[in-house]
Amino acid sequence: MGKVTGFIEYPRRTALDRSPGERIDDFNEFVEPLSTMTPEALEEQAGRCMDCGVPYCHSGAMLNGMTSGCPTHNLIPEWNDLVYRDAWRDALDRLLHTTNFPEFTSRVCPAPCEGSCTVGLHATPVTIKQIERAIIDRGFQEGWVVPKPPRIRTGKTVAVIGAGPSGLAAAAQLNSAGHQVTVFERQDRPGGLLIYGIPNMKLDKAVVDRRIQIMRAEGIEFVLGTEVGLDFPAKRLREIFDAVVLCLGSTRPRDLDTPGRNLQGIHFALDFLKQNTKRLLDGHTPAISAEGKDVVVIGGGDTGTDCVGTAIRQGCRSITQLEILERNPIERGPNNPWPEYPRVYKLDYGHEEAEVLYSGDPRQYAVTAKRFLGNARGDVVGMDTIDLNWQTDDQGRMRPVEVPGSEKQISAQLVLLAMGYLGPQAQLLEQMAVERDQRSNIKAAYGSFATNVEGVFAAGDGRRGQSLVVWAINEGRGAARECDRYLMGETELP
Ligand SMILES: Cc1cc2nc3c(=O)[nH]c(=O)nc-3n(C[C@H](O)[C@H](O)[C@H](O)COP(=O)(O)OP(=O)(O)OC[C@H]3O[C@@H](n4cnc5c(N)ncnc54)[C@H](O)[C@@H]3O)c2cc1C
Ligand code: SF4
Repeated sequence: MGKVTGFIEYPRRTALDRSPGERIDDFNEFVEPLSTMTPEALEEQAGRCMDCGVPYCHSGAMLNGMTSGCPTHNLIPEWNDLVYRDAWRDALDRLLHTTNFPEFTSRVCPAPCEGSCTVGLHATPVTIKQIERAIIDRGFQEGWVVPKPPRIRTGKTVAVIGAGPSGLAAAAQLNSAGHQVTVFERQDRPGGLLIYGIPNMKLDKAVVDRRIQIMRAEGIEFVLGTEVGLDFPAKRLREIFDAVVLCLGSTRPRDLDTPGRNLQGIHFALDFLKQNTKRLLDGHTPAISAEGKDVVVIGGGDTGTDCVGTAIRQGCRSITQLEILERNPIERGPNNPWPEYPRVYKLDYGHEEAEVLYSGDPRQYAVTAKRFLGNARGDVVGMDTIDLNWQTDDQGRMRPVEVPGSEKQISAQLVLLAMGYLGPQAQLLEQMAVERDQRSNIKAAYGSFATNVEGVFAAGDGRRGQSLVVWAINEGRGAARECDRYLMGETELP
């Protein structure tokens, strides 16, 4: 354990974000990393960890439908202790024991570990995510993170389809076991939603590129701009490769069946976000722009918030975010006890920025779109909304009921739909005769990750449904372990 009285003596300190007024002028990362603090200050923060007997922070359990603790089971109390003792290299080794890409999670993870930290029961939790960031940043700065190609090759070949975090984790693990891994990706860059989903201000794309360079140097081959099932026949996969891991993501966006949906200017969130990142990386002029427009984002989750932050940076005139659910309470409710993930009201980065620019949180709660309004040219010019009242039905389920007379009109020349995803695209799965479950995700049990087709495994959002980067890494590692067992009869992969 770090410092016996650390959590009493030292207050929690987190990294400062750049001020909203400054950061909206660019797409650079908005968090000032904790690693800009002195090593002594970081060691103090790590010393707040009590190394409690039952550290829920690394449990990664699902409680009440939400993630509690770290899904990759990062050995948090161990690396906190090592940081406290100034043993940074050992802390890095311990961190990399359970995860492949801490530089991604320490930027974008919602940190369910902190929601279940025992110190958080009585005080503010240990600043786990930022210590993770400090460890991996230090690893890169010191030159400790280098390519580690396997010493022996097994002669087995594996195709990983999809280069999002689950595919990258599966590829890294299978390659470390000595298999020759080829990653197929239909986009022009590897990274999945790390590149063309999560915006640059949360995760700088150079951070993803740096990891891809390491993976290439370790011997992993990337075949880009190739959609398997379209550009590369699915049946050839099993002729060429000894095993296949499907890491397709959940890419079919949920749509709205609302009058006026076909008007011009209504787009899926991911099309908007991808075009913006393409502009940053390649200088393409985006076809969808928020500049000078009243923007409405439908969907109150992270994707919606990323649209808010991106629209603000593009210079929108106003921004509104509609959320179908009611607002979360300021503090945990009695139905949301520790160590569950805290369902509390938060101002995310995009909301902070909107507050500064437009003097208010852009979110409207318990409200939905009633109809979109257009002009003679067929462009969207606004929408009608209606308030909702959440009521319990006969079967005890919560149902939204429209509140009569609560219709309002909002001006909108750009509407972005950010209401979640409905599973992977069907084409490749149909060609391979891979079964899907009731939610149209790939059917493969968590733990075995095996599909109904021999030698074909599945991981990430395409199996689990829309989730988090840290779960994608966990699943990619798990599928790699089971794939290795299938190929070799046994496995030493964690
Ligand atoms: C806008 C947005 C913001 C998000 N923000 C966060 C966040 O802040 N923190 C967080 O933890 N999570 C976040 N998420 C969720 C997170 O990005 C996903 O859970 C994670 O990326 C899933 O990883 P994956 O590897 O399963 O799938 P993906 O990242 O979706 O990657 C799947 C890849 O497979 C490729 N592919 C699919 N089919 C084929 C085919 N037939 N041939 C070749 N390639 C194919 C796709 O092109 C894609 O690149 C966000 C999601 C979105 C949409
Ligand atoms: S990956 Fe997420 S849950 Fe795990 S230690 Fe890092 S911030 Fe916490």
